[in-house]
Amino acid sequence: MKKNLTLFFILIALITSGQNAEIDDLWKLYNSQNLKSVIEKAKPLLENDLNNIDLNLLLGRSYTDQKDFKRAIPYLESTVKNDKINSWRKAWALAYLGTCYFMLQDYDYSKKAAKECVELNATQNATQYANKIILLCGFDDFYGDWKIVDSENFRFYFQKMSDSDIENYVSSREEAFQNINKFFNSKLPKKIDFFAWESREDAKSLLNVNLGFADPGFCIVHSYYRQTKGHEMTHVISNYSTRVLNKTGLINEGTAVCFDQTNQNKEQIVKDWLKANDEKISISEIWINWKKYPEQLTYPLSGIFVRELIDHFGREKFIEFFGNQTYENAKIVFGDHLDKMIKEFESKMNN
Ligand SMILES: [Zn+2]
Repeated sequence: MKKNLTLFFILIALITSGQNAEIDDLWKLYNSQNLKSVIEKAKPLLENDLNNIDLNLLLGRSYTDQKDFKRAIPYLESTVKNDKINSWRKAWALAYLGTCYFMLQDYDYSKKAAKECVELNATQNATQYANKIILLCGFDDFYGDWKIVDSENFRFYFQKMSDSDIENYVSSREEAFQNINKFFNSKLPKKIDFFAWESREDAKSLLNVNLGFADPGFCIVHSYYRQTKGHEMTHVISNYSTRVLNKTGLINEGTAVCFDQTNQNKEQIVKDWLKANDEKISISEIWINWKKYPEQLTYPLSGIFVRELIDHFGREKFIEFFGNQTYENAKIVFGDHLDKMIKEFESKMNN
């Protein structure tokens, strides 16, 4: 009997280590973001081991990363339920549930999952991820007294604003959304969560960044309440006009400036700046070294440059190019005429 028992344990150990090796390989595959393979390989394994916390987490995370939030949830919930030792697996399942529920606009569930992850405090990266959700998505106690207003394309959060100002604010942003999306024709996965901050300092101390900014993946905008109507929402809307794989400052910021819904004379701003600083611009140089130049120059300049691209090559070509915003791809999409256009543009600005 003793011998049999030993044999039994050896057998179990062998099976488990074989399974562990398979799961290790799946995690490696996941970490290389080979999501399709992870899903293909994890599914049959799960059939024989329905409550396996690794396999469920692998599937839940892969589907989340593929933006298939609805499908991801049952797998993530299974890991949360079956991870009895509260390991890193449960922490990541909760963190990802925070994302999935947010994207499906189940705000209460999203908040609950993200907060549970933070309380679990099982692994630093998952805690950080969940903390980011809590801060960005409006779940922190700091937002407790903000006014929330839903409209057709937005869920607004106001730090401080009178009801009549809110009414104007909402209708003018809805109007801007319609105007901008007439061009992009994007279908967003959810409403834009739009945070209108009254105090830049508060935003800086809570979020540790300067206003405003957009997080297109989450369809979130954090804006100083007096920022332009269109800039930040354009970052979100444009992101869903095509598959955006490669962004550059010149094109991505230029697009947001181009659709910011102001009547600023940007050409004059650029010319005045160049004159005052005794400089000439080179588009190819700014395209590569975007951060080397001050925003007072690059933002208005990029806005008029993008306008020029659209006027020259048309909407369809521009959207096709927008997914990969490098000069190299511009050459491929727009063809030889691009360089001539850039030259003319530069001489118009520099003279
Ligand atoms: Zn921007």
